[in-house]
Amino acid sequence: MWFRRDLRLADNPALHAALEAGFDSIVPVFIHAPHELGAWAPGGAQRVWQHFSLAALDADLEALGSRLVIRHGPTATALDALIEQSGACAVYWNRLYDPNTIARDKQVKRHLEDRDIETVSFNAALLHEPWTVSTRQSTPYKVFTPFWKAIRDEPVRNPLPAPATMPAVWSRIGSEPLSELGLLPDIRWDTGIRETWHPGENGAHARLEAFVADTLSQYGESRERPAQLGTSHLSPHLHFGEIGPRQVVHRVEEWLHEHGDESDRPHANTFLSEIGWREFAHHVLFHFPNTPEEPLDVRFKSFPWAHDDAALKAWQDGRTGIPMVDAGMRELWATGTMHNRLRMTVASFLTKNLRIAWQHGERWFWDTLVDADLANNTLGWQWAAGCGADAAPFFRIFNPARQGERFDADGAYVRRWVPELRDLPNQHIHEPWAAPRKTLDDAGVTLGETYPKPIVDLKASRREALDAFDQIKNS
Ligand code: FAD
Repeated sequence: MWFRRDLRLADNPALHAALEAGFDSIVPVFIHAPHELGAWAPGGAQRVWQHFSLAALDADLEALGSRLVIRHGPTATALDALIEQSGACAVYWNRLYDPNTIARDKQVKRHLEDRDIETVSFNAALLHEPWTVSTRQSTPYKVFTPFWKAIRDEPVRNPLPAPATMPAVWSRIGSEPLSELGLLPDIRWDTGIRETWHPGENGAHARLEAFVADTLSQYGESRERPAQLGTSHLSPHLHFGEIGPRQVVHRVEEWLHEHGDESDRPHANTFLSEIGWREFAHHVLFHFPNTPEEPLDVRFKSFPWAHDDAALKAWQDGRTGIPMVDAGMRELWATGTMHNRLRMTVASFLTKNLRIAWQHGERWFWDTLVDADLANNTLGWQWAAGCGADAAPFFRIFNPARQGERFDADGAYVRRWVPELRDLPNQHIHEPWAAPRKTLDDAGVTLGETYPKPIVDLKASRREALDAFDQIKNS
């Protein structure tokens, strides 16, 4: 049983089928082969998560009488060695959908079949695999609403139970220590990630239960309040497959059935449509596998992007002088996550006000997000830059100060992440550059000293972005 990003025991179709097949022995293996994923090997924050998630999976397997065998890649070589040592006659796994993994998996499959080893793969990660959904013209969807309409009422099969026991792994089959994979950083920048999250299957279910009990019945509103715990925070758990979308959908429906009333349904539907966006992102990535690097809207290949390393660095460091942007970027650095409203805001600011190519932002998120996911991140960045599937039109440029006034009216989110502005009154916290001198003095704020002056003028840069778009819009 080859584990990859399906780090769970319940509702794991490959594991379930391997157990049902009645083999004498099953060897659960994780193979560390980041170089096989090319430019999209896990980033720094994901590696921290992966370390703890693998440790959790090992502990869960041990509780059932088994254990996780860890090996270094290349994958085909590692599997060959394991087949020699165990006498295995089959390899079971769950499918993934990003282009580098697909290419690697095809090679591994061919290699094993050449050796007369049976290969069996399953869907654990999606409600509907990308090739099972298409428009009436048999083309892939590029717009979310019809995509979701086509699948949202399809029945979702019940999740599979976790095994009660597992056959032991023979002692002669050795494992490399998890610490040898070098997933944790030498310099301890990951303290905030460790304090914020509980990677692993148990952590995923605890999160889902807390969300269903405390938040689901207000999700439609709470999801827009970055200062609150108003969303599920399931994204890294879903990315690593510590929980699957079927389990999430099933639990939401069960909760509605047992505890919900009429007023809860719209909130549940909004939440389920977010799971739908995740499905859509995987659909788009599978059918347009070059989108992590290239805009889906080809007009954007000739967009006049700016090259400004200092501005990019200020954005990465959360020192742009625009409070909502800085708060989002600092939350990301400290915790490995950022609220969706802020992801949209900082991405619009980078690609439109700074006119820096979306790929730079995509790359930074890849390295810093614990939930960095090639499908969701690509879709999110192309959406924000106006060049992707179902994207926000380019001319829709978020004003970060207005976003703050609307979604962080009492400034709680900005105060948490930009404490040097803490004592500014609500009325000025999202636009300190417009505050009267005395107000700044009273709050102990000196622009350019205690907090940066804005690195761009929001109005002028908006105009320049629209002019730049005019150059390509009819091309
Ligand atoms: P909830 O609101 O509780 O939603 C439940 C689940 O639905 C999420 O866990 C996620 O799996 C899925 N989901 C929600 N929104 C989206 C969306 N817009 N697109 C696809 N799936 C969605 N999400 C990632 O998982 N990984 C990324 O690397 C990522 N990068 C993004 C980059 C940008 C520029 C933008 C605008 C969005 C990005 N998102 C990404 C989507 C979204 O911001 C996160 O999924 C969400 O904030 C995670 O928080 P949550 O689990 O509390 O979400």
